[in-house]
Amino acid sequence: CGIVGYIGTQAATEILLSGLEKLEYRGYDSAGIATIWEEEIHCVRAKGKLHNLRSKLEHLQTPATIGIGHTRWATHGKPEEYNAHPHMDTAMRVAVVQNGIIENYRELREQLKASGHQFRSDTDTEVIPHLIAQLLKEEIAREPNNTDFHFLEAVRKAVNELQGAFAIAVICADYPDELIVVRQQAPLVVGFGQGEFFCASDTPAIISHTRAVLPLENSEMARLTPLGIEIYNFAGQRLKKHPRLLSLNP
Ligand code: GLU
Repeated sequence: CGIVGYIGTQAATEILLSGLEKLEYRGYDSAGIATIWEEEIHCVRAKGKLHNLRSKLEHLQTPATIGIGHTRWATHGKPEEYNAHPHMDTAMRVAVVQNGIIENYRELREQLKASGHQFRSDTDTEVIPHLIAQLLKEEIAREPNNTDFHFLEAVRKAVNELQGAFAIAVICADYPDELIVVRQQAPLVVGFGQGEFFCASDTPAIISHTRAVLPLENSEMARLTPLGIEIYNFAGQRLKKHPRLLSLNP
């Protein structure tokens, strides 16, 4: 239901948590965040209110400077911790948060299970990290030298296979300087700071950090790195787009 993402120089956990708090008005049944620290994904999730997630994180915070967060309003699978986002692939290298619904998740889940992927939740969302991990392996084998585009291409090819209305944010432990977001019939904005970049399902989550925002259009995706934000369409073409400045008193 609510998405927040951060990449930059500050500790990500608090930025993600306070961003999610600004999205509480949307309603939710569980919450979670994933960060990358020392080449591993650290994923913490909790059922119920954000203070449950906060208390878990008191012991488990990382100084990571990249991460994604989510408040879930269950559509597929009970509101339990094992169904809370972020969801990961079998090897726990890719983490995904998603708003909306993946209509063709059953077919994808069967295909992915048949090729050895192990599922841990009842959600429609979980097909996404498994599919990205699978396509990433194929991408690396196909274009071994094109390292700058492996992760982006894997996400792009994955979203081309997804049907439904969704917004997603993805990180991968093997690409700790990239946060990729996608918009398809569900809102997603990106925010431009000084050496730090943000994404969210709605501007209140990031407005205290930056007023320079760009709402993505349908069938657009963005790659956030510590150097900036690149926007692409689902065919992989780079688009020239600029943020607009939100006024403080709209
Ligand atoms: N369909 C997903 C789920 O049930 C995402 C729901 C949401 O937008 O929070 O986990």
